Amino acid sequence: MLCYDLRAIEAKAVTVDDTLNADDAVWIEGDPTPVHAVHVHGRLSTAGTGRYYFSGHLSGETTVSCRRCLSDFAAPVDEEVHVVFAGDELSDDADGDVYPIDPGAIELDLRPAIREEWLLAAPAYALCRPDCQGLCAQCGADKNLGPCQCAPRVDPRWSALAGLPRTDAQ
Ligand SMILES: [Zn+2]
Ligand SMILES: [Zn+2]
Repeated sequence: MLCYDLRAIEAKAVTVDDTLNADDAVWIEGDPTPVHAVHVHGRLSTAGTGRYYFSGHLSGETTVSCRRCLSDFAAPVDEEVHVVFAGDELSDDADGDVYPIDPGAIELDLRPAIREEWLLAAPAYALCRPDCQGLCAQCGADKNLGPCQCAPRVDPRWSALAGLPRTDAQ
C-alpha cells in the first residue's frame, strides 16, 4: 500500500519494495496512468526531526501516443526518486523534492510523491519504434501498415506521356 508507520522508520530505516496499482485512488483523471502496477523500491529513513527521506526507484509502463503515427503504445518509465517528507517548512537546499506530512500523522503515505514523480518521468511524446513511418500527409493512412492508395505519387505530366504509343519497338 506504500504507507509506512513513522515510528518504525524512526526506529530503523525501512526497505520499500511495493507496487502502486494502476487503479489506485491517488491517480487523477488526465494523469498518464500506468499500464500495470508501478514497482517502487528503495529505502525510507529519517532525515532529522520530523523529516523523512525516500531514496529509490520507480518503474512501470505508461500509454503514450506516438508523435508520428499517433497510435497508442506502452512506453517504459524508469526513474530514480529522491524525495523528502517534512512536517515543517523546509528550505530549498533540500536534496530532492519536498512533500508535506500532516502534523500528527502516524503514517507516511508515499503514494502522492510517487504519483508526482511518475508524472514528471512519464514521456509526453515518444516514437512507437525508431523507424515509425508515420501517417500519409494526403490521406492520413498509417504507413506502417503498408502503402496507401495515394502512393506512389505520380506527376500528372508523366502520366500523360504514359498514354503515348511506344516508339522503341521499331
Ligand atoms: Zn508510430
Ligand atoms: Zn495516402
